[in-house]
Amino acid sequence: MEQIFVSWDTYEITKGHAEFLRDEDKELSEEEAFSLACGDSDLFAWEWDHIECEITLWLKERDYPSLLVEGHSMGWRGQSGCLEILDCSTSQKFLSFLPKSDCTFTIYEVDKSTLRVENSHHDAPTGEGYLISVVDPCIYCNTVIEVDNYGEDSMCEECEEHYRE
Ligand SMILES: [Zn+2]
Repeated sequence: MEQIFVSWDTYEITKGHAEFLRDEDKELSEEEAFSLACGDSDLFAWEWDHIECEITLWLKERDYPSLLVEGHSMGWRGQSGCLEILDCSTSQKFLSFLPKSDCTFTIYEVDKSTLRVENSHHDAPTGEGYLISVVDPCIYCNTVIEVDNYGEDSMCEECEEHYRE
């Protein structure tokens, strides 16, 4: 069962904060609360810090793994493509696959070594998808392979056939 790992939506963040402000101060109108939330310059920085912390923790628990990012329906041309992020040590490196524009995204945890990303921005308003898998080099031939149990020595299929005896 997929679970939401982290999400980023500046409208939802602002709306959520406005609701919080109205809980604190019952006198505030919906409009006043929303404009107060919009004027809070620390709000996005605080929320972004939270996302970076969650990602950093995820990476640390997996011993700063190599990642394979497979993108689908990217940008206005709907392109597909792959990106390898080797020895992913920081949340900035982790998020480097996202386009450099205002993104609204949700990252789902598919299983312990797989994440799924739904992202939208002005060049992809209907959304683009990414699948992020923890990968490891094969201990014999160095081919990058997907792993189920990170942290264990992994072999590619060919080497496993070859070295099974
Ligand atoms: Zn191999």
